[in-house]
Amino acid sequence: MTADASSEIVVVFDAGHGGGNQGARSMSGLTREEDIVLQVARELGQCRPDIVLTRTCDQTLNFAERADIAQAAGADLVISGHLDSIPDAPYKRGLHAYHHPDSPYGRRLAEYAVRSAPRELRGGNSILANSVPWKGRAKCVLEAYLPYSDALLIEFGYLSNTRDLGFVRSTEGIQAMVSLVIAIAEYYTQQRMEDA
Ligand SMILES: [Zn+2]
Repeated sequence: MTADASSEIVVVFDAGHGGGNQGARSMSGLTREEDIVLQVARELGQCRPDIVLTRTCDQTLNFAERADIAQAAGADLVISGHLDSIPDAPYKRGLHAYHHPDSPYGRRLAEYAVRSAPRELRGGNSILANSVPWKGRAKCVLEAYLPYSDALLIEFGYLSNTRDLGFVRSTEGIQAMVSLVIAIAEYYTQQRMEDA
């Protein structure tokens, strides 16, 4: 690949949920996962218009529709952004990056994501503990994208944890998530070019 080839690598950011597809909630119910990841998408769109977005408003999209957008854009990598909530375990905090075993760059990207996350997002957890294979809901999301592209699902933190909640809804938190998505996109492009 030549240097120009980097512009041919297409990265999609998928803001999870939205519209009738309800995501996680804070304990009070006032902070919604779908709103925070949408803010991340919008900020991302401002500073990196080359990164394709699955949604920029509060709309309902199912997995197939999201995958269609990614496929139409010729996506090489889809980064799906989410937030978690476990009301029964409010002490749980920190980012998790889920990868699919069949995603060629999945594990590398997941480890990079956790390694590159600022301390406030990582929540003091180790890289290995937070770079985890597919399971549960993450499995459905990753499998929707996998036929067409590499896929990574990031749970940026827990809305059920007071510290995570405070950070992810702050201006600094949104900026940290945007910066992390950009860093992953750039790392992926660099890896692809090195491997070409
Ligand atoms: Zn979610």
